[in-house]
Amino acid sequence: MNLGKFLTRVSLAFVITIATHAPLHANQLGPEVVLKAVYLGLRQVDTTRSNPKVRWNVPNGVSSPCGRIGGSLYCTRNNTIYITQQHIQMAYKYGDAALAYILAHEYAHAAQTVGGFRPSNITAIELQADCMAGYYMGAMPNVTFDRQDIEEIAEIAYQVGDYEFNNRQHHGTPEQRAKAVLLGFQASQKNGIAACRVR
Ligand SMILES: [Zn+2]
Repeated sequence: MNLGKFLTRVSLAFVITIATHAPLHANQLGPEVVLKAVYLGLRQVDTTRSNPKVRWNVPNGVSSPCGRIGGSLYCTRNNTIYITQQHIQMAYKYGDAALAYILAHEYAHAAQTVGGFRPSNITAIELQADCMAGYYMGAMPNVTFDRQDIEEIAEIAYQVGDYEFNNRQHHGTPEQRAKAVLLGFQASQKNGIAACRVR
């Protein structure tokens, strides 16, 4: 991840490259730098002005107005994003851009909530948030995601997908989630965030 340049073109073809772990970038930014830079970028591209607060490096089990924290989430009750220690560690198995994705995904939930366009079923909410996260990351003026970053992001999105179709918490299949975030990245270079609309 680079601060202060522009995104190269993105292709959905990346989705077929994500089966294997790419070697990590030589120069990985640390979590504090990533979260601060991405947060600043998100605030600039979020037209809903949801302006959530962020608490990061939160251990699992901490209490919040939305119950005990069991993973990164956006809590509507206090307009706050929680990024857990466990998720930061998990993200860096892929790289710094994977952490940017986790923050951007949760920020998208804030925008869905404040903007009043959150879809009605959980899978649609989650895939729309993935798409918006991709759009935001591609559109933010202060952070650049190169091809390898985008592969990292597609890979973590793929890995957090699930096949639990009968679970009310089903967030989308691996392929759906990777495609949604890449669609958002493409939209940031072409047709805009309307590509993330749920019909
Ligand atoms: Zn989510």
